[in-house]
Amino acid sequence: MPLSRSAELLKALIAFPTVSRTPNLALIEHVARLLGAAGIACTLVKDEAGTCANLFASTGPANVPGVLLSGHTDVVPVDGQPWTMPPFEATLRDERLYGRGTADMKGFVACAVVAMIDASARTLRKPLQLALSYDEEIGCVGVRRLIDVLEIAPVRPELCVVGEPTMMQIATGHKGKAAYRAVCCGQEGHSALAPKYLNAIHVAADWIAGIRAAQQRLAQTGARDDDYDVPYSTIHVGTIRGGKALNIVPNECTLDFEIRTLAADRAQPILDDIRRHAETASAAGHGGPVYLPRVEEVNAYPGLDTHVASDAVQFLESLLPSETSKRKVAFGTEGGLFSTRLSVPTLVCGPGDIDVAHKPDEYVALAQLDACDAFLARLVDCLH
Ligand SMILES: [Zn+2]
Repeated sequence: MPLSRSAELLKALIAFPTVSRTPNLALIEHVARLLGAAGIACTLVKDEAGTCANLFASTGPANVPGVLLSGHTDVVPVDGQPWTMPPFEATLRDERLYGRGTADMKGFVACAVVAMIDASARTLRKPLQLALSYDEEIGCVGVRRLIDVLEIAPVRPELCVVGEPTMMQIATGHKGKAAYRAVCCGQEGHSALAPKYLNAIHVAADWIAGIRAAQQRLAQTGARDDDYDVPYSTIHVGTIRGGKALNIVPNECTLDFEIRTLAADRAQPILDDIRRHAETASAAGHGGPVYLPRVEEVNAYPGLDTHVASDAVQFLESLLPSETSKRKVAFGTEGGLFSTRLSVPTLVCGPGDIDVAHKPDEYVALAQLDACDAFLARLVDCLH
């Protein structure tokens, strides 16, 4: 059987090695040419260097709210992963397309582009729109520039569908995330005289003690949302670097940590709580004086929390098979930014399985692409 148009386009998209932090312009220009051939004008919103771009396109009337399909074009690196097939070349095997980004999330991007082209041949009451971003995987970096543009547009969409892989189920929410770097400073000195100097790793340890105390409080008495696997806000230290040699008191230690928040929580009060606990730990450890790190926010994006009983959910359910489930997902998406900054009801629904994303031999089942095509065809029918 010949491949669907979406699967064929996905094969082409996989061949653009659009790893985050590297150019995606060739892919964006490829999509812009396809849309242009269907008479759809595209707006490119580039980064400072001009090598990465977001793409915005709209088909149908410009003066009424429509439905925005959102996807990111970047993929995570393949370095060090034991791929058994070429990651940037689509391989068809067992009714699946393999390649980096097939699930996360060029499969949805391909389906969305095909839906735009099909929609352009119809007379629509409401527009169908497409937003493609760059550098999502490193903290929703690219899409912010696009949202800057959409924010001042006279008409905003009435619904945004983010096509991250949910196996075509409806995800109504995800946690927000804030990433931080804590830089702990000390004084270098001979380790034989250690108590005379301030040990930067010990300062870091006190901060980590604060993190663990704050986590315990969140887990025991914090806000809860049982729709999540881990039903409370979480804190985690990912990396720690410090010290030169065992016989030198370290003068610097850096640690990277993150806070993932439920809709009911904010990162700042949690950070304040960490600080209070760290002060106590530091005072105890240093016999009175308190030494805390300098904490910088590296990156943050808001959570998503669309009400399950909202019109948006009902509308999406009407376009999907009756057995479709509603849930919240563990991973973050650009949906939090669309929902918070544009006040647009936003849901996550896309082809493929998040369990194979970011891994070697990532794939999407052809049946998932077909299911997404069918969903988008019904959506276009509704906009007609
Ligand atoms: Zn993704």
